[in-house]
Amino acid sequence: MKYIDEFCSPEAVDLCRRSIARNTSQPWTIMEVCGSQTNTIVKNGLESLLPDSINLIHGPGCPVCVTPTSIIDHAVELALRQDCIVCSFGDMLNVPGSSLSLLQARAQGGKVQLIYSPTDTLKIAAQNCDKQVVLLAIGFETTAPLNAHCIVQAEQQQLRNFSVLVSQVTVPPAIRAIMSNPRHNIDAFLAAGHVCTIMGESEYAELAEEYQVPIAITGFEPLDIMLGINHCIAALEQGTFGLMNSYKRSVKPTGNHPAQAVLNRVFEIADQQWRGIGCIPNSGLVLREEYKRFDASLLHPFTGTSNADATACISGEVLQGLKRPSQCPSFGTQCTPEHPLGAPMVSSEGACAAYYNYSSDAL
Ligand code: SF4
Repeated sequence: MKYIDEFCSPEAVDLCRRSIARNTSQPWTIMEVCGSQTNTIVKNGLESLLPDSINLIHGPGCPVCVTPTSIIDHAVELALRQDCIVCSFGDMLNVPGSSLSLLQARAQGGKVQLIYSPTDTLKIAAQNCDKQVVLLAIGFETTAPLNAHCIVQAEQQQLRNFSVLVSQVTVPPAIRAIMSNPRHNIDAFLAAGHVCTIMGESEYAELAEEYQVPIAITGFEPLDIMLGINHCIAALEQGTFGLMNSYKRSVKPTGNHPAQAVLNRVFEIADQQWRGIGCIPNSGLVLREEYKRFDASLLHPFTGTSNADATACISGEVLQGLKRPSQCPSFGTQCTPEHPLGAPMVSSEGACAAYYNYSSDAL
């Protein structure tokens, strides 16, 4: 398949590997921000192709992993109500809440509908006029335009029984939070190519300047990852910093303007809780005043109480690259994909699940 097969070519990956090996003269630590990149790295054993002195650490870019427990608890409460249907992508269903996951709520008779696109929710709302239909709107800048578009469509269709439970987050404030932690040892970043496809380059150029680090906007195939690492190593070894676009087949300098327009029409920036990490200032997207009538947290307020993650779960450390999944005492013992203690063991983008499924660390 064009644009994919050539970026999985073992010969091309090997050429890149040799370039990285030739150019590396000292230890460097590089964080890949996105969970999909973590998955590609671990699944394809890319770390084993690199010199021992290159340390890859995994970042917070797994949307399921950073959605707060309180949002899951709220969705579970709504699903168990007689008059509500909660619509969600499949990855969210098994994420532990304080007492139940959405899947467990469904097993208890809760109404949880699996969707493949946010706009599926509009059809469900139109077909179930006697029910309140709630879209669980989570994720990064990649999902926010789709959720915003869905809300605009609901407005145009004058749907009265549709609302959204919002937990949208943005990447740059999370990178700032990670870089402000005195425990970090990051020399360079692989930025998430799909987020930059939407948002463009400028926010990351600012971050590279602010923290004087190389940042390579990177795609998701094995060669993409190796190219991003190669660009970071070249900059680090030359003592330079700045933004490099290693994913030009998708990312244009100013991003996707229609997607940005609908995102900005519906959402505005606010502080946001990240699961395991806490509040990161200005890292969330909430509904603008004009769209508050679709806000499920106002229309159907949460009446229960939420607890934090199980104390055995160190997902906050894992999501900030401070610990590897295999350093968690519960990894592969009390915590497995069948019985997850934390969200990173659930999602296909979660570092703990990637290690469990593909890494020799799980043995
Ligand atoms: S292995 Fe499980 S308990 Fe440990 S950090 Fe990952 S999700 Fe949390």
